[in-house]
Amino acid sequence: MARLPSFIREIDKKGKLARIKKPVSTYLEIAGIMKALGDRPVLFEKVTGSRFRVAGNLFSTRKGVADSLGIKEGQLLRKIQDAIDNPKKPTLSKSADFIEMDADLRKLPLLFHYPKDGGPFITSGVVIAHDKQYGRNCSFHRMMVIGKDRFSMRILPRHLHKFIERARGELDVAVCIGCPVNVLLAGATSVGLGVDELGIANALKRIETVKLDSGIEVPAESEFVIEGRITREMADEGPFVDITGTYDIVRKQPVMEVDRILHKRDAVYHALLPGEMEHKLLMGMPREPTIFREVSRECECKGVHITPGGCSWLHAVVGIKKRKEDDGKKAINAAFRGHGSLKHVVVVDDDIDIYDPRSVEWAIATRLQADKGVVMRKEPGSSLDPSADLETRMTCKMGIDATKPLGERIKKFEKAIGLKVDLKKYLER
Ligand code: MN
Repeated sequence: MARLPSFIREIDKKGKLARIKKPVSTYLEIAGIMKALGDRPVLFEKVTGSRFRVAGNLFSTRKGVADSLGIKEGQLLRKIQDAIDNPKKPTLSKSADFIEMDADLRKLPLLFHYPKDGGPFITSGVVIAHDKQYGRNCSFHRMMVIGKDRFSMRILPRHLHKFIERARGELDVAVCIGCPVNVLLAGATSVGLGVDELGIANALKRIETVKLDSGIEVPAESEFVIEGRITREMADEGPFVDITGTYDIVRKQPVMEVDRILHKRDAVYHALLPGEMEHKLLMGMPREPTIFREVSRECECKGVHITPGGCSWLHAVVGIKKRKEDDGKKAINAAFRGHGSLKHVVVVDDDIDIYDPRSVEWAIATRLQADKGVVMRKEPGSSLDPSADLETRMTCKMGIDATKPLGERIKKFEKAIGLKVDLKKYLER
């Protein structure tokens, strides 16, 4: 079993882990330290008011995610795509050594992230629910603490919402915290209703599940499991700083009541700092394969990068091998199909490094005439974009075809290459 603490030990062995031994507060302090550390993984060993340790920034780089899956960085997109296409049912294990504690959320190290947030939030919780017809669903929901055993939960009209409707407003759920990265990535995928995201997680890297008293099967590797029910009651949820780094508005959202809290011995709580790299990677990266798939239907797609500067949600760069003049435009439309929240997309040729913002900007600078290469479309987009209409999600999306034209004139667009020296030869003393 690959629990989070063993992954943290691996990071520590490589000398990359920041260990904070000084007591820290869950009120703004832990979030502040995590932000100041940037991509660096951190373990808080003493948290004021809780006996549990807190870890964060664990999966803040593509390399870190790839390492924990046991693959190379360049294989990530294909690997996630393959797992989405071929989910495998996880094996059911008899026991997961959970210990039950008081159903009192105040005893957990739940972070208050930003000064104007509506309360402490759970941000790394994978919510698992069952439905007679559709089976199991796993999805991320931000959860605001509104009492010692109550949350208000942001639930968009997707699968969990449908399950709640079918259960006439009351639904048993289990919230798993401190999951391995394959479960986190799977929880962030957008697949069809009825597809078990834990099957995707298991295809990424083997996991086992364990059955709770409620009948819900959860990853045995979870550090914490909060069992409870989504109720018909509604309460204010927010304000909350989400992936854009801006405060999302207050909305009436369903209330979850907590019945039971389980944890592993020496459990580590996984804190996911909203709007920072770990949040961005885990949320954005699983959309790259879905864009890749749609673009591949239209032309030869070489790669997709959901870029951190675009909040890892609103922007993507798509690399193609252009063969027909309209491939760029087709790729733009396909990319919007592949990720409904995408707002701006840049399509580039395969000589451009999609991971290098300077290379992408160079393509825009030298290969684009806006009156020909820019596509605009008014339609609903992301609920997280503060510049869109927050109720209707109406927005103006833009696609930029920064590929060079084919045919005769192509020569003037060629990037100059051919300078090759062995620098060592010149810098030696
Ligand atoms: Mn689902």
